Amino acid sequence: MKDHYGRTIDYMRISITDRCNLQCRYCMPHKIPHLPKEHLLTYEEIQFICQIAADIGITKLKITGGEPLVRSGCPQLIGKLKTIPEITQVTMTTNGINLEQHLHELKENGLDAVNISLDTLNPQVYQQITGKDQLPKVQNAIIQSIKAGLPVKLNTVLQTGINENEWPQLIKLTQQYPIDIRFIEMMPIGYGKQYSPVSNTQLLQQIQAMYPELQKEQSIHGNGPAVYYKIPEAKGSIGFISAIHGKFCQTCNRLRLSAHGSLKPCLCYEDQVDLIEPLRTCKGKQREYQIKEKILQAINQKPKEHHFTQSAQITETKPMVQIGG
Ligand code: SAM
Ligand code: SF4
Repeated sequence: MKDHYGRTIDYMRISITDRCNLQCRYCMPHKIPHLPKEHLLTYEEIQFICQIAADIGITKLKITGGEPLVRSGCPQLIGKLKTIPEITQVTMTTNGINLEQHLHELKENGLDAVNISLDTLNPQVYQQITGKDQLPKVQNAIIQSIKAGLPVKLNTVLQTGINENEWPQLIKLTQQYPIDIRFIEMMPIGYGKQYSPVSNTQLLQQIQAMYPELQKEQSIHGNGPAVYYKIPEAKGSIGFISAIHGKFCQTCNRLRLSAHGSLKPCLCYEDQVDLIEPLRTCKGKQREYQIKEKILQAINQKPKEHHFTQSAQITETKPMVQIGG
C-alpha cells in the first residue's frame, strides 16, 4: 500500500503493553499511571487488526512496548501472528530482562529476530540509565539468543555525559559476535526532550578515525532506516538510525499500533486514529470494513516528514513507553 507521498507502507510496530520492568531515564524515569486494563487491546483484537493490515499490504510486524515480555502470552501471540499468510516476518524489541526465560517459547512460536536494547557495558551506568542493576541478565540473554540461533540486533542510545564515550567497547561486540549494533539518535519525544542527541554524523566520523578501513554496506538489514557499516572481518555490522542528523522520512514505511488501540502515523505528532471503538462496537463484515477504513485513514494521514528540530511543531506529548517505541 502506497501513501500520498509514494512510500510503501508495509511495516507495523505493535505495542502490546504500556508497562515496563525498567525505568530508563529518557523513556519512563519514574512510575507513571497505567491506562486502565480494560482499554488494553486483547490478543484477539491485535490478531484481527493484523489480519486486516496484512490484507492492505503490511508484511512485517514488530512486537514492542513498554516491555513486551512483561505481558503474559507474548510468545503465543507471536505464534498466532505468524499464521497470517501475508506476514513474512515477526520480530520483537525488548530490554532483554525477561528474554532468557522465554527464549525457548519465542523460538518455538517462530519469532524471526530480536532487537535488544543495550546502552552500556558498565553496570553502574546501566543502573544510572535504567534504574535497575540488571546488566548481567541482559548480557546473558544476548549470548543465549545468539546460541539459540536467533538473529540479534542491539539498540543503543548514546547520551551526552552518560555513555557517549562507550561506543569503542560497544562496536567491538560486532567483532566478537554475529550481531549488529545500531546507534539510535535520541528523539525529542517524551522524556527524551530533556537530552540533546549525540550526533550520529559525528559518531561515524569518530568510528572512521579509529577504523579507517570501515566499509559501508549496501545490503538492507531490517525493516527500517538504519545505514550500516562494517569493520572488515567483523562478524556483525554497525548501524546508524539518525532521525535527527539523517532524516529518513522519505523512506518511512511504518505505522504504530498502541497498546490501547490507536494507530499512529508519525512519532512527532499527536495525531492518531482510534481503532478500539469500531473494534468493540461493530460485528462481522462491518467490523472488518471499519477497521480497514481506519487503517487506510492512518496511512493517508502520514505526514511528509517530522519536525523534530522545531520543538514548537512537535505535538506528541506522551512518553515513549506509552506510544510504543
Ligand atoms: N522495552 C523495550 C526496549 O527497551 O527495547 C521496547 C520499547 S523501547 C520504548 C524501544 C526502543 O526505544 C529502545 O531501544 C529505547 O532505547 C528506544 N527509545 C526510547 N525512548 C527514546 C527516545 N526518546 N529516542 C530514541 N529512542 C528511544
Ligand atoms: Fe522500558 Fe524500553 Fe522504555 Fe526502557 S526504553 S523504560 S526498557 S520501555
